[in-house]
Amino acid sequence: MKHHTHRHTQLMTRRDVLQALGAAGGSSLMMEAMGVWGLMGPSTVRRPELRGRQPGTRVVVLGAGISGLAVGYELGKLDYDYRILEARDWAGGLCWTVRRGDAHTEVGGEHQVCQFDDGQYLNAGAWRIPNADEGILGYCKELRVPLELFVNWSDANYLWEEDPERGPLVGSRVRLREAKADMWGSISELLTKAMDQGQIDVPLTDGDKELLVNFLVRAGYLDSDDRVYVPPTRVRGSGDRYDLSALLRSGFGARVRSVYAGTGGPHPIFQPIGGMQQIPLAFQRAIGDRITFEAEVRSVRQTEGVVRIVYRSTRTGEEREEIADFCVCCLPMSILKQLDINFSSDMAAAVSESNHNTSAKMGLQMRRRFWEEDDGIFGGHLFGRSLQLGEFSYPSNDYFTEKGVLLGFYASGQTAGLADLPIRDRIEHVLTQAGKVHPQMREEYQNAYAVWWDKVPYSLGAYARTPPPERLEQLAQADGRLYIGSAGASRRPAWLEGAVQSAWRTIEALHQRVTQ
Ligand SMILES: Cc1cc2nc3c(=O)[nH]c(=O)nc-3n(C[C@H](O)[C@H](O)[C@H](O)COP(=O)(O)OP(=O)(O)OC[C@H]3O[C@@H](n4cnc5c(N)ncnc54)[C@H](O)[C@@H]3O)c2cc1C
Repeated sequence: MKHHTHRHTQLMTRRDVLQALGAAGGSSLMMEAMGVWGLMGPSTVRRPELRGRQPGTRVVVLGAGISGLAVGYELGKLDYDYRILEARDWAGGLCWTVRRGDAHTEVGGEHQVCQFDDGQYLNAGAWRIPNADEGILGYCKELRVPLELFVNWSDANYLWEEDPERGPLVGSRVRLREAKADMWGSISELLTKAMDQGQIDVPLTDGDKELLVNFLVRAGYLDSDDRVYVPPTRVRGSGDRYDLSALLRSGFGARVRSVYAGTGGPHPIFQPIGGMQQIPLAFQRAIGDRITFEAEVRSVRQTEGVVRIVYRSTRTGEEREEIADFCVCCLPMSILKQLDINFSSDMAAAVSESNHNTSAKMGLQMRRRFWEEDDGIFGGHLFGRSLQLGEFSYPSNDYFTEKGVLLGFYASGQTAGLADLPIRDRIEHVLTQAGKVHPQMREEYQNAYAVWWDKVPYSLGAYARTPPPERLEQLAQADGRLYIGSAGASRRPAWLEGAVQSAWRTIEALHQRVTQ
């Protein structure tokens, strides 16, 4: 708690300075300062403290992804008369956990129905929550979504390289723990030798130097007498040590970090037990019947006095209208771009300049958790740059059960030309490439589900790309009676936290306007 209070005070002070900078030099100077302080990454936006009840104000929210749900939930607390319109028959958007029976038809392509066994799932979009993302984690706490650890990296994970230019380790399965032990061991040995021989000028007292050598001996697993590296079989595993040059040339050395901070930042990282979609489901429970599902928004027209929203029921085909005082657009930017909506020309330009990532994922159900049983791998990833699988990942849930779903592919959908191939050929690519490291793949494979987000109706892309500061400034403004509250109008569109921050920013602005 003490730690928290301290941090809070620090942020307040920075916030004051940032506000002053913003006033003096506009948002780019402010963003620059934020970058210098390292505040651009983790959550810096605090949940607004809003008061007053607004039962007479009608708001329509477009889209029931995390941002739309957060906007609705907060509007509900303030007693607004609100409704969320969602095109699909479920909430969550990019926060989609694919389970047995889930289905979608790719735009211009194939229909898939998920064949996973009951209880098996793939987080097709969002899958991990950094510990610094206090906004979304705060909602998990408030809405009672149980979390578990997401193992973003494990010493048992394999490193793999095929490029013939990359030295003698090409084609060998090297464990991360082997690379770590051998890199540290070799470097510690070199450094100790150089210090012993007085070849290196260390800015330390003799006593400190002795302590440093002791540290290197322990950290690098050096023999304490002759100070040479002795591979520690107990923790590294058996087998000959890899030499420093081979590790450097293979690129494996680059995976060795003093403190691990891959995508998602430092450990721990979290995930909801039972899949990411537990978060939208919890919002949905709290919101109740304020969401109209199967409501595909077709047009939005604002006048001086009201906003008219026309939507089509995807079940009956019938067109209906909602009238509101304000409309908050929490649609993907890719959809908003195409929507018939009368934004001002500045806002229309900012929206049309937005673009998005083309990420895709594939989950493969395996008959047997061979990575646990045969390889002792419990979570983390396969680091195989040349395999063209992007992030191949082992589940951090339901350890020691029978079956499991591997994330066999998480990369740009364009990788290896896969986007243009039939789904069975994309599966074939994953089985062949991953099979080089895990020969059990093909034998244990049961079925797969592929989500190429560019081809998913009502998404038409993965997360938006981060808007440059000027565009973000425009997207974050009210445009008459319209607001944009989705992750695409935040500094962190690739994260749920971006969706939350955008929702908070929107609701704060809207509420201030209504109450003043
Ligand atoms: C592959 C991938 C991996 C990711 N990994 C992570 C991660 O590990 N951690 C993390 O924090 N974040 C991650 N993210 C990002 C995160 O999922 C998004 O930032 C967040 O979910 C965006 O929420 P949103 O509400 O802004 O938009 P969306 O989730 O896109 O919601 C928009 C909603 O609008 C609806 N809609 C669309 N068209 C219409 C229409 N015409 N009428 C009515 N409704 C409509 C959609 O159905 C959808 O429900 C990942 C995303 C992807 C794609």
